[in-house]
Amino acid sequence: MNTYTKTDGLEGKKIANEIKKNSLYLVSTPIGNLSDISPRAAKVLAEVDFIAAEDTRNTAKLLIHLGIKKPMVSYYEHNKRERGQEIVKRLFQGQSAALVSDAGTPAISDPGEDLVKLCAEAGIEVFSIPGPCAAICALTLSGLFTGRFSFEGFLSTGKAERLERLQSVKEDERTLIFYEAPHHLVKTLQVMLEVLGDRKISLCREITKINEEVRRTTISQALEYYTDNQPKGEFVLVIEGASPEKKTNFWDNMSVEQHFEHYFSQGMERMDAIKKVASDRGVGKSTIYKQLL
Ligand code: SAM
Repeated sequence: MNTYTKTDGLEGKKIANEIKKNSLYLVSTPIGNLSDISPRAAKVLAEVDFIAAEDTRNTAKLLIHLGIKKPMVSYYEHNKRERGQEIVKRLFQGQSAALVSDAGTPAISDPGEDLVKLCAEAGIEVFSIPGPCAAICALTLSGLFTGRFSFEGFLSTGKAERLERLQSVKEDERTLIFYEAPHHLVKTLQVMLEVLGDRKISLCREITKINEEVRRTTISQALEYYTDNQPKGEFVLVIEGASPEKKTNFWDNMSVEQHFEHYFSQGMERMDAIKKVASDRGVGKSTIYKQLL
């Protein structure tokens, strides 16, 4: 049973503090700095019946750091179908489990989304234990517009698919976020320059790690830099959205006289045509009147 109690520091807020049976917990883990694990995440990892981990060796290091011993099963891209069914069966039978990815928030660019879908279909409750996510860390570090953004994950390694995906976001005015592996970075920047044109980009590397770095530059300069300097470590690329189309008006290249003539020749009264020209141009009608004199 889940019980709810008031907790220190969250006066008046009620939070779940016991692990529920038959439930899956999506536990976010550090993306570099182990101190970024939250107390609640550590508590859930310590109290669930078992942990489903994308890379059990990696998670074992985290558990040693936390002093936790817990049975683990591997759950990754190539066994997610059968293993997902097995996990759901155990949850049905009354167990509780935590899902952790290699790093960061499970179900963001990793097979976690399939397990959540399976649980949802089976009527199993899923809880989120929030924490680090490389995409959000990078967006906030980028110095670019954060009000609206589109998370694009990894681009396909297939040339045609990459081009197609980039074409599809070319006109998007939202900030774009991509994950990329270091050995694909130069190729990716080349094709981004080709399709998106030269734009501002923030390359966020090794976030929360010793060699953490944010390079705020343009796509062409980033390409030049990483052609000469081998990219190392994990990267998130945050790219400025497309510039809004500049609104054009039919009178932009007309003189005031031509603009007036346009309405007058259509049969408008002289004063009405003057008013219309003034309102089109966002100025007072006396200004237009004086110019026509
Ligand atoms: N679920 C994870 C999350 O919440 O961020 C992402 C998993 S995805 C398989 C791994 C990718 O995330 C890496 O290739 C890199 O693009 C990005 N990434 C993970 N950790 C990072 C870090 N410390 N610095 C920069 N990028 C990172």
